[in-house]
Amino acid sequence: MTVTLIATNQLVSRAIDVGAEHPYVAHDTTGSDVAEFAGRACYQSWTRPNEATATNPGYLAHILEVAHGSVLEHGTATLYFTDLSRACTHEVVRHRHFSPSQLSQRFVNGEDSAMIVPPLVAEAGGEALKVFHEATDAARVAYTLLSDLLADHIITNHPEVTGTARRKATREAARSVLPNATDTAVVLTANYRAWRHFVHLRATEHADAEIRAVALDVLAIMQGVAPAVFADFELSEVNGVTVAHSPIGSV
Ligand SMILES: Cc1cc2nc3c(=O)[nH]c(=O)nc-3n(C[C@H](O)[C@H](O)[C@H](O)COP(=O)(O)OP(=O)(O)OC[C@H]3O[C@@H](n4cnc5c(N)ncnc54)[C@H](O)[C@@H]3O)c2cc1C
Repeated sequence: MTVTLIATNQLVSRAIDVGAEHPYVAHDTTGSDVAEFAGRACYQSWTRPNEATATNPGYLAHILEVAHGSVLEHGTATLYFTDLSRACTHEVVRHRHFSPSQLSQRFVNGEDSAMIVPPLVAEAGGEALKVFHEATDAARVAYTLLSDLLADHIITNHPEVTGTARRKATREAARSVLPNATDTAVVLTANYRAWRHFVHLRATEHADAEIRAVALDVLAIMQGVAPAVFADFELSEVNGVTVAHSPIGSV
């Protein structure tokens, strides 16, 4: 599985006209600065009257402390996930504040789909891995056979359905035999608050092993994107697995 940061939001300029005597001058133009701007707009505190919150990390630490989570919705990141299973993305897209765009199994031929080996199967190896490969290979063979049979059926019975329409019709039916392990790719855009909630729920010992690995990668990336917003998450070992925990939790 790979997670790649592809976009973040930012202020158009450090100096923003806020209708005051002087423009507000942000520390930087990052998504964290957008979030700070949104928080300051609530209280019109453009002149940074409080020393403890005069820096961007200080300001966002206070936002986390008082759980003013909606402010964190103004910073966003778009991540591209590849080489993960449909089982995993089925769980990921349950997070309703994510905006997903996922590889289409109707449009893209699934004949050569890779199969994502669950971490425990990979660890067990031997007979377990053999059973996994036999089952997933058989599914791929069935997919190809079904695609060919359904294409023949359409040519004979629905000759008006041709080209892309025919390929989509065969693939949408043939994919029914592909397993949860089938490789997929998805782009997710979400705000800092939604990413925090995802890490909070999925980087734990209770989560599925694959999505836990995804959540830990997301955390590492988001700690680079918005250090002040994700600094409270700490890694530890629980029941032999690495997890991330925050004393603040979801906000
Ligand atoms: C360990 C684990 C086991 C799970 N097992 C199952 C399972 O067996 N079956 C299953 O179906 N799912 C399961 N899930 C998925 C789970 O039920 C959630 O769908 C998923 O974790 C998304 O999180 P969320 O509901 O907090 O909301 P998100 O969609 O991430 O939204 C974030 C927050 O926004 C708020 N929110 C969003 N939508 C609404 C709404 N409509 N009304 C009120 N508040 C809202 C809530 O505060 C919510 O926590 C499991 C999740 C975990 C972590």
